[in-house]
Amino acid sequence: AKTMIKVDHISKYFGPLKALNDVSLELHKGEIVVLIGPSGSGKSTLIRAINGLEKPEEGKIYIEDQLYDPKNKKYAAQRMKMGFVFQHFNLFPNKTVLENLTLAQIRVLKRSEVTASEIAMKYLKRVGLDDKASQYPNKLSGGQKQRVAIARSLCMNPEIMLFDEPTSALDPEMVEEVLEVMQDLGKEGMTMIIVTHEMGFARTVADRVIFLENGSIVEENTAEAFFDH
Ligand code: ADP
Ligand code: ADP
Repeated sequence: AKTMIKVDHISKYFGPLKALNDVSLELHKGEIVVLIGPSGSGKSTLIRAINGLEKPEEGKIYIEDQLYDPKNKKYAAQRMKMGFVFQHFNLFPNKTVLENLTLAQIRVLKRSEVTASEIAMKYLKRVGLDDKASQYPNKLSGGQKQRVAIARSLCMNPEIMLFDEPTSALDPEMVEEVLEVMQDLGKEGMTMIIVTHEMGFARTVADRVIFLENGSIVEENTAEAFFDH
């Protein structure tokens, strides 16, 4: 399968702290990689670097075989290939659910309001929330907010989805509904990198598991091999 992301020997420093230490990985089309490791091991920094939110001092990142660098004229287009879902949902509180989903489509993709709304409704339905379109985010549960955040990302037609602890801020009873949406995405062939502490989910959904410790990859394996030793 096509290589979607290549991380080539990156290191990231925060002052004297080496948050990522010579990390390399490749992600192929349709693959699901789960990043696990102790708190502070660099999982979030790695996924943020892949999305361009952090700039590694050393090494290179390629998105679909092209260098991913703010100085590259293709950078914005490469970035658009990736959807990012945060631990905290980052919804606009003073916009309805529908408006949260149409805003970037209209402003960034220049879709008409009608088209943007149709696409928004399609993805809201997909995450089981089409009946919440006219609600404000504060009327939703945490699990519903996160499903809205995922739907919002999908409206931008990403080829790769990055998830940074998407269920860590949720009450336990809401974790499953979000994981189910992610599992469905995987079945549909979405390429994904997921930072999570949900080991049962990792075991069933991941094609590969990468274990980070002190900024380094200390193990990389199939989910099967990873959890069976
Ligand atoms: P994880 O996601 O595995 O919990 P992080 O990637 O968030 O780990 O953090 C890795 C290390 O880098 C931690 O020691 C963290 O405190 C540090 N770190 C992360 N972001 C920053 C930052 N913006 N400034 C300073 N240190 C940071
Ligand atoms: P998340 O877990 O959702 O990635 P964090 O709470 O780890 O969020 O980090 C939120 C922000 O704070 C990020 O921009 C991260 O880079 C920054 N950050 C994390 N750890 C540190 C730290 N030790 N010092 C300074 N900034 C940090």
